[in-house]
Amino acid sequence: MNLVEYRRAARAWLQENAPSDDHPETDAIARAKDFMARLHDAGYSGITWPRRWGGQGLTEAEERAFAAEARDHSLPTYVFSIGLGMTGPTILDRGTDAQRERFLRPLLRGEEIWCQLFSEPGAGSDVAALQTRAVRDGDHWVVNGQKVWTSVAHHADWGLLLARTDVEVPKHKGLTMFVVDMHHPGVTVRPLKDMSGRANFNEVFFDDVTIPDEHRVGEVNDGWSVAVTTLLHERLSISSGVGMGGQKDNPAALEALRTMVDTSDPYVRDQLVELHIRSRALALFNQRLAQETEAGVFPGARGSAAKLLLAELTLFQADLATQLVGPEAVLADHPLSRVIATAPGMALGGGTNEIMRNIVGDRVLGLPPEPRMDKNVPFKDLKVGTQA
Ligand SMILES: Cc1cc2nc3c(=O)[nH]c(=O)nc-3n(C[C@H](O)[C@H](O)[C@H](O)COP(=O)(O)OP(=O)(O)OC[C@H]3O[C@@H](n4cnc5c(N)ncnc54)[C@H](O)[C@@H]3O)c2cc1C
Repeated sequence: MNLVEYRRAARAWLQENAPSDDHPETDAIARAKDFMARLHDAGYSGITWPRRWGGQGLTEAEERAFAAEARDHSLPTYVFSIGLGMTGPTILDRGTDAQRERFLRPLLRGEEIWCQLFSEPGAGSDVAALQTRAVRDGDHWVVNGQKVWTSVAHHADWGLLLARTDVEVPKHKGLTMFVVDMHHPGVTVRPLKDMSGRANFNEVFFDDVTIPDEHRVGEVNDGWSVAVTTLLHERLSISSGVGMGGQKDNPAALEALRTMVDTSDPYVRDQLVELHIRSRALALFNQRLAQETEAGVFPGARGSAAKLLLAELTLFQADLATQLVGPEAVLADHPLSRVIATAPGMALGGGTNEIMRNIVGDRVLGLPPEPRMDKNVPFKDLKVGTQA
């Protein structure tokens, strides 16, 4: 099938199968899982992933063609976005064949939901300072500690967990990555409400949670390099909207915003044009990164530039909507209020704008890196978290 036919088939399938609206309150998870299974059966889940692991074995061109069609719909895929964009690609890149066999197909079919357990109360931007411990006990590991801001953990079946396995070495050298069963009796998940009124992220506590060694991802004490793989995928997937389910119902998108404002006003027109230019520039930058990936050039730290551009675009969009529509835009029942309240989170989740700028300065532009006093200090001697 050529690309034009592929896109036509995707459009027809979406018209037939995409939900007409996304009832978030009732049976949302069951409906989302049912949709993912149908998406997979139709060949539109894991478009670029290898067929051996449940994917479709196609190229970025098909992925983009499908994404372009999906933009006109509102797909209930948010709850799978961590698995599809971050943890799944990490298992694909760094897992064992047994892990790929066990985890990837159920993820693509929406049978299992994933979360990412990196941030802690004392370790966000400096995530390598984390304190959750994993101690080896024969062919198992025993985990104790706390994570925070864990998106969708309250629905998750599996979590990708970064934990400290050695305190005698510097902080980046004593971490190991695991897959943890979120239904283990020692796992406690407590939802946290954000200012939009929703509880999408959580605190997660681990009390003597055991993990079999076969669920370790990568070598012992090499978790930092696995985490870097996840974070690169995270920034690319956030900026390109993997699993985010289209823009149709975004009331701050250009199409919706122009129906709410007076487009004969030159100032309003200027601002809408600016929004269009920024959105288009980001879409083209993402397209370029995707094409380079396909040609074997990994975008690396430039993924941080894409994530930064998306965060700035999201804030610009929310600010513009508030400015043009007026103060009523922030009232709880206004369609724009949720977009406005969640916009600042985009400048934090997946790494803050300041950290993205540090990465771009250091690794893309070649500017001098931040001074690091703790590079060669054993973790146990650092004043971080509860050690401070
Ligand atoms: C919506 C949302 C979803 C999230 N989902 C997840 C998830 O699923 N899993 C997960 O593990 N985490 C998740 N997070 C956590 C997120 O990764 C952290 O919030 C983020 O890394 C920042 O860490 P922090 O909140 O501890 O802030 P801090 O690191 O304490 O930063 C505080 C401020 O200091 C600035 N700062 C810190 N260090 C530097 C520096 N070196 N140079 C310049 N400025 C600096 C920061 O930019 C920020 O403005 C999520 C967060 C949000 C908002």
